[in-house]
Amino acid sequence: MARQYDLLVIGGGSGGLAAAQRAAEYGAKVAVFEPNRLGGTCVNVGCVPKKVMWYAADLAHDLELAADYGFRVDRKGHDWPALKQRRDAYVARLNAIYERNLNNKDITWVEAAATFSAPRQLVAGGEAFTAPHIIVATGGQPTLPALPGAELGITSDGFFELAERPDRVLVVGSGYVAVELAGVLRGLGAEVSLMMRYERPLRSFDDMLSKQVMAALEYQGVQAITHAVPNAVTQEEDGLTVATADGRRHAGFDCLLWAIGRSPNSRGLGLEQAGIAMDDRGFVPTDLWQNTNVEGVYAIGDVTGRDALTPVAIAAGRRLADRVFDDQSDRRLAYEWIPTVIFTHPPTGTVGLTEAAARQQYGDAVKIYESSFVSMYYALGETKSTTHMKLVTAGSEERVVGCHLIGDGSDEMLQGFAVAIRMGATKKDFDDTVAIHPTSAEELVTMR
Ligand code: FAD
Ligand code: NDP
Repeated sequence: MARQYDLLVIGGGSGGLAAAQRAAEYGAKVAVFEPNRLGGTCVNVGCVPKKVMWYAADLAHDLELAADYGFRVDRKGHDWPALKQRRDAYVARLNAIYERNLNNKDITWVEAAATFSAPRQLVAGGEAFTAPHIIVATGGQPTLPALPGAELGITSDGFFELAERPDRVLVVGSGYVAVELAGVLRGLGAEVSLMMRYERPLRSFDDMLSKQVMAALEYQGVQAITHAVPNAVTQEEDGLTVATADGRRHAGFDCLLWAIGRSPNSRGLGLEQAGIAMDDRGFVPTDLWQNTNVEGVYAIGDVTGRDALTPVAIAAGRRLADRVFDDQSDRRLAYEWIPTVIFTHPPTGTVGLTEAAARQQYGDAVKIYESSFVSMYYALGETKSTTHMKLVTAGSEERVVGCHLIGDGSDEMLQGFAVAIRMGATKKDFDDTVAIHPTSAEELVTMR
């Protein structure tokens, strides 16, 4: 006999846990299937340990500046194993908190992978489970390229297992993970090369950000290898060698980190048995309400192929539970005006349209405001880090439709501006807002 629930959630990551807990708050009987540690990618091998590493690299940068402010700092290197131990302990505390939260809400945690055996039935750990509602929230995993020797490299998952800091690292890729981890490794003292297929990283972002992230990486001391497509990896005496399609060889690395994107965890889930559609890359498409093509089966988070961000997975999950278990029939996540930060050094933040996308949508009715300056933080010494800001406005009323920032504090600055922009703020609203002085953020309300 199958165990009967109101809701079955496959995946105990950001989206799955959020949906499960919200549904349980409405009184639903819920089971979550998760064979690994609770929290998913974000908590275990994503946002959380990454941000800890980002803080460490940021601190290294601040220590360099400390002398400008009169501190006599004698740096005696960096203890990577000690940092890893504290970071892992923090993540373990979070895992325990997640488990307690499930217990407090009477949610069953089935510590096994689930597969569909029918549209409303799952099998996990040798048992059958059934419910009228099933959420697929299985996330994704880092992609390894299909080329000889690829297995000699690690991915972001392997990065978080590194017991020591590698000395000479080649990061391959040009998205979020590539620039973030290249920056962390460099900040903590490794020699880092970043290999990209094209001219610059983050090509889908506003041109200004793409250029300035590249400049910031180079200022940090990351060596950029552009127009390079790896086609083989070999282990040589002096380390790993990566050969590229144009015949170049890049040698002498003790760590190769693939950061070329992520693939959905959808294979082996039995989606076919349940008639649940996947696209050609394995993502599970949904409509605007997170419904898959099979009634009563929903998908949220990274597995859907939409904005792969933790708050997006959480918001989609909570709103789905509001709709299904609290009769809030119009509740859904609108996938627009989603702010995002890339934890480079300094951080990069963006919300809304790029200049190019705005010009495509609004033609000549686009007006751009830009500002570049060195924050006062750098006034006393030789180290300089330039902040760049760009506002994209559209229409005669100059509605702000895009905001792009790179510079210290951008990560914390963006959230509030994202609220205003989502509400339809115009350039005049920005201008009419009194500045906070002296800050970098004030530039956003004083641009001319
Ligand atoms: P996940 O969190 O991946 O959870 C899916 C869970 O499903 C996993 O625990 C998996 O074990 C489980 N699962 C898979 N198959 C099965 C099965 N058959 N049965 C049961 N369980 C299964 N986002 C941000 O917003 N900010 C950041 O700073 C940020 N940093 C990141 C850094 C890195 C290095 C990476 C890789 C990602 C980062 N992200 C960040 C993205 C963020 O981690 C994801 O968008 C988010 O975790 C997606 O949540 P999810 O619930 O869709 O999937
Ligand atoms: P991304 O999709 O961000 O970037 C991967 C990039 O690698 C591609 O855009 C592509 O860039 C390049 N690439 C693809 N295939 C190859 C290849 N075969 N060889 C060399 N380069 C290749 O993936 P990530 O893994 O960096 O991150 C996945 C997602 O996780 C992100 O999109 C983001 O949503 C989320 N994330 C969020 C973070 C945050 O919020 N701070 C941090 C980390 C991840 P090109 O076409 O230019 O070559």
